[in-house]
Amino acid sequence: MNTGLVDPFGRTIEYVRLSVTDRCDLRCFYCLPGDYRDFCEPEEWLTFEEIERVIRAFAVLGVRRVRITGGEPLVRKNLSTLTGQLSRIPGISDLSMSTNAAGLARQAVALHQSGISRINVSLDTLRADRFKAITRGNLAKVMDGLMAAKNAGFQPVKINMVVMKNVNHDEIEDMVEFCIEHDFTLRLIETMPIGDTGRNATDHYLDLQTVRARLAEQFRFIPGVVPGGGPARYVQIAGTRLRIGFITPVSQHFCETCNRVRLAVDGTLYLCLGQDHKFEFRPLLRAGIGDAELLDAVRDAITLKPERHEFNEKPQQVVRFMAKTGG
Ligand code: SAM
Repeated sequence: MNTGLVDPFGRTIEYVRLSVTDRCDLRCFYCLPGDYRDFCEPEEWLTFEEIERVIRAFAVLGVRRVRITGGEPLVRKNLSTLTGQLSRIPGISDLSMSTNAAGLARQAVALHQSGISRINVSLDTLRADRFKAITRGNLAKVMDGLMAAKNAGFQPVKINMVVMKNVNHDEIEDMVEFCIEHDFTLRLIETMPIGDTGRNATDHYLDLQTVRARLAEQFRFIPGVVPGGGPARYVQIAGTRLRIGFITPVSQHFCETCNRVRLAVDGTLYLCLGQDHKFEFRPLLRAGIGDAELLDAVRDAITLKPERHEFNEKPQQVVRFMAKTGG
């Protein structure tokens, strides 16, 4: 009988973030070092069949939501085959994806048809020169991908903007206008000290409470909209359909409501973005573990979930890069 997955701190785990690759076609300076080469080798990647088995086990135990992420998920070949497999798993009622959208123009329709209903696009700036400086990439490709997502029917499309002092903090109002124009949801995110790159970016850290106060002077907020299953605290801008979510892992952590775990491409389950607690599924899968034992393994893994991250107390702690864990 399914009694749900409850961790040692009484939190029900109903959400898996699934990293389908640790590779990325961009190099955001706060995420992945420009010269980084230490990626997983293909033989270490879980196959689509192995991923499906693990997600099926989570679904049997009560997980309802899966978000495809990376690295950049669109660089994994035949992604829509995998998302089709996952969308057919009984119990999975919400399949979504986080992407930089650089390769989305070609894949948006197939991914939507395969069962992904909603999508988050990471976009820190609307200026091509700034985009190049932050990511080394081409903004025009991302805009094409974003518009393809809108036309393919993803609903909602959310823009994830990491807000950084002296990098893009002067562009939040422009992003608000852009999201109103295109009917996108906007989510503002604080820089986290994850990996050396994330830590180097803490010079640009901006407490989102100050951003919220700044926006409140210009727009009238309707608070408390979209309760949702995630960490964002949303407001709606009066007179528009725009919703803005504030994600504040550093200034105001939300670990007590954490409902998620992260499965990396090599089969490592990370129990917390900001801690090293983990459980290895790949050796079990490749040793021929049976279905009942796999359920036990998932239950065992969840007992390892720590209470909270310690970004403020121990900012040196997380050595792996965001792209490895699956952001
Ligand atoms: N490539 C996909 C994308 O761009 O959405 C998925 C993976 S990416 C690692 C997920 C998110 O993590 C992106 O929105 C990125 O901006 C964010 N991110 C990476 N490093 C971060 C950091 N140090 N602090 C805050 N957010 C970070």
